[in-house]
Amino acid sequence: MAIERREFLLLAGAAATGAGLAGCTSTRSAVEPSGGSGSRSPEAGPSPSASPRGDASRQLGPQVVHGPRNRSRVALTFHGQGPLPMAEALLTEAERAGARVTVLAVGTWLAQYPQIARRILDGGHDLGNHTMHHLDIAAMDASAAYAEIAGCAQRLHALTGSAGRWFRPSQTHYATPLIEREARRAGYPTCVSYDVDSLDYTDPGPDAIVATVLGQTRPGSIVSLHFGHSGTVTALPAILRGLASRSLRPVTLASLLSS
Ligand SMILES: [Zn+2]
Repeated sequence: MAIERREFLLLAGAAATGAGLAGCTSTRSAVEPSGGSGSRSPEAGPSPSASPRGDASRQLGPQVVHGPRNRSRVALTFHGQGPLPMAEALLTEAERAGARVTVLAVGTWLAQYPQIARRILDGGHDLGNHTMHHLDIAAMDASAAYAEIAGCAQRLHALTGSAGRWFRPSQTHYATPLIEREARRAGYPTCVSYDVDSLDYTDPGPDAIVATVLGQTRPGSIVSLHFGHSGTVTALPAILRGLASRSLRPVTLASLLSS
């Protein structure tokens, strides 16, 4: 059973790095990590034998790129930064459609708008860590990377009583082994990547965002989206309708990755 789960949940190993652009990801970091079972085809068949109940995090590896492909669930994950009204509009729209999302919050954003942390959790969403300053963490040494992760963790804990379960590295699609190690040291055993990049941070217009997301999302997908971009706010209702028409339910990361 554990082996089956690894087929879709786990990716360990090296990753590309790159100088950062405006989004979560450098556009040059398009190489998937290799090594371990993570290099196997993501088209691995259904795993009908259910995993044991319990703490799913113990079954996750150091990095997750997508969830199970045999269940009709997806996770919409948001870079947490930008004007408060846009963030609130996106959360409200998701809730109106019965969707739950995951917000990976930048620490300086939480400092600017501390009330958003409770707003996210009260809406039934997941809240996680997206570094303190959203710098190019893949270019940092271990102590600097740790400080970026731990700084945001402390802020999350001060605001909510928990540092959250998920960490997404800044300005890199995939966590490097160094990032994975420092994240674990800061209390995050699993780094969160994604298999669908909406490219919304390039402001391509709402129609393009909808087409990219609906064109690439499939069961188990983790979709990268961003607060702070008006095109994303405009696109979200059509994205939610499109997912619903395909019976793909947007759930939190915790739900997507639960056993
Ligand atoms: Zn980001």
